[in-house]
Amino acid sequence: KTIIQVEHLEKKYGDTEVLKEIDGTVKSGQVICVIGPSGAGKSTFLRCLNLLERPTSGQVLFEGTDLVSLKESAVMNLRERMGMVFQNFNLFPNMTVLENLKLAPVRVKHLSDGEAVKKAQELLDRVGLGEKADAYPASLSGGQQQRVAIARALAMDPEVMLFDEPTSALDPEMVGEVLQVMQELANEGMTMVVVTHEMGFAKEVADEVWFMADGYIQERNEPNAFFADP
Ligand code: ADP
Ligand code: ADP
Repeated sequence: KTIIQVEHLEKKYGDTEVLKEIDGTVKSGQVICVIGPSGAGKSTFLRCLNLLERPTSGQVLFEGTDLVSLKESAVMNLRERMGMVFQNFNLFPNMTVLENLKLAPVRVKHLSDGEAVKKAQELLDRVGLGEKADAYPASLSGGQQQRVAIARALAMDPEVMLFDEPTSALDPEMVGEVLQVMQELANEGMTMVVVTHEMGFAKEVADEVWFMADGYIQERNEPNAFFADP
């Protein structure tokens, strides 16, 4: 089943054409790794998938609905079904880990406080941070903060998870713990689009690797073929 379909996606900033013509399909349960040089448009592409950036032209179909043609309020509703994890964690610094995880489920999904706490605690256990519910983000390592950010995204029961260089801001020794959580998520069947420089992860976990350069997807292949010696 197709979850996201992108057709003739184009994004310009002024006269600068960052995405020139992107087409692509993300199917249920697939892990897509988007790789390529800095400035290629990877982050812009990812942000166009949930309309954090508004495409200049083209279509982004989410389960058949074209997000580009929707009003912002309708986009918001659909965006809730796509979890996003950023390079710099973007946790709310004045809230504890538990409060970070509860906020959207209570406000947006109208879970009771008790339900939201239970769910948050389950997710924290799942990312190995069951003991950190009452900690503030600043007291956690980068790897721990990013695992909290993943748990927070999962708290909304997303159908797709979008990752924008989730390990690029981490000290090297913390990269593995975050990739591990992502790999487990992939194994559980989560649909994922991952912008990353972690070639090992792409090789191991991706169903497809999309190589982006200069605003186009230049190559797309299964990892064994993509990473095969020429
Ligand atoms: P990547 O993620 O592959 O490094 P980006 O999508 O971040 O690439 O950026 C692609 C190009 O678009 C870069 O040249 C960047 O400077 C430019 N760009 C990104 N966002 C904006 C913006 N808001 N305004 C103008 N240019 C932008
Ligand atoms: P990333 O590391 O995710 O690729 P960047 O560091 O390139 O992001 O950009 C961070 C923010 O600055 C983004 O919101 C992006 O849209 C914006 N940005 C990037 N390049 C430009 C640019 N040339 N002009 C204006 N805004 C930009």
